[in-house]
Amino acid sequence: METTAAFRGLICTACGAETDSTADRCPDCGGVLVGDYDVPDLTPEALPDVTGPGRYEPLRPFSGDATVTLDEGATPLVPVPELADELGVDSVYVKDEGRNPTASLGDRKLSLAVTAAAQRGAERVATPSTGNGAQANAAYAARAGIESKGFVPSRCPFLNKAMVNVHGGDMRVVEGRYDDAASVSDEELADASDGWVSVAPGHPFRIEGAKSVAFETADDLDWTAPDAVVHPTGHGETLVGLEHGFQAAAESGLTDSTPRIYAAQPDSTAAIADAASEGASEPATIEHPDTIVGPLEVPDPAAGAAALDSLDRSGGDGVAVSDKDILAGAVDGCEMGPETGATGGTAIAGARALADDGAFDDDDVVVLVNPVAGSKEADLLRSHLMSQGI
Ligand SMILES: [Zn+2]
Repeated sequence: METTAAFRGLICTACGAETDSTADRCPDCGGVLVGDYDVPDLTPEALPDVTGPGRYEPLRPFSGDATVTLDEGATPLVPVPELADELGVDSVYVKDEGRNPTASLGDRKLSLAVTAAAQRGAERVATPSTGNGAQANAAYAARAGIESKGFVPSRCPFLNKAMVNVHGGDMRVVEGRYDDAASVSDEELADASDGWVSVAPGHPFRIEGAKSVAFETADDLDWTAPDAVVHPTGHGETLVGLEHGFQAAAESGLTDSTPRIYAAQPDSTAAIADAASEGASEPATIEHPDTIVGPLEVPDPAAGAAALDSLDRSGGDGVAVSDKDILAGAVDGCEMGPETGATGGTAIAGARALADDGAFDDDDVVVLVNPVAGSKEADLLRSHLMSQGI
């Protein structure tokens, strides 16, 4: 692989084994892999004078020129003072990932996962997905000139299914829920030719891609880390990316602290949040997941144990919130700040619950991640209003 000078390979978050860059999971223990770097000493002035993830090239696996990109990232960090007053903190910002090329944070992740796959000579990249990941995979595969296939559950939104096809991707809609789609994906990949490469959730280069959320956030705060970050969580891979990203920024000397990271989840599908609250090292599989927040309905998170490790190391926690509070958070969010759907509303509801529990200090700077454009989930918000007679 053609990687940057700082990138040494992959290392297991569970057992510390080092492995080469073509592995998806640790060959020794099956643990989640992350990038292993010789982190350079950096100053803001030494970073490339570009916008977007390429600015953080010294902390990334691939150079800007070698990256399959659609100009993802460089999303705004929008201040929401009204919510800061409500939560009783110094300031609240929404990191609005809805403003990515396919309107989700998944673009950052699939950019690097598809780059890695293309460098391995992939003819086709495949992933199971609740929807947005399959859409991003199709978009980045098209950009790289390779084929793609998404495995989505029947409840996946029409918008995602349509755009997978519009990007020229193949798709299999699996009756049932996310885990059914993931099982079918595993079966097809096991029988597939060598040219098929998995970029499924938990993939190490997805995690590498998520790190740029941390780099940009600190950069926009003049290279100070926020005190707390609340992230709507499904598989947990972005939590791992956030924590490792903020760690790398501190190790390089760009920042002098790291934030507490909180995983916000719908209470019927709170595998990671519940395990974090209980101090468990592994999430328990959710038997009957049932939330209106489709992107977060992940009963068996692909990066669960690694995410719990990251939450613990950051000094953060998990928070589980009801679908009702999530929808209220989403609609209130749209009135106070950038458009948030049910997924982003999970961060707002989570932050409210954390504030009630005394998790924040009055001088805290709190960042809420909005992973998906609110308009992608308009039908959920509209039916919520209708249920209230509005
Ligand atoms: Zn391992």
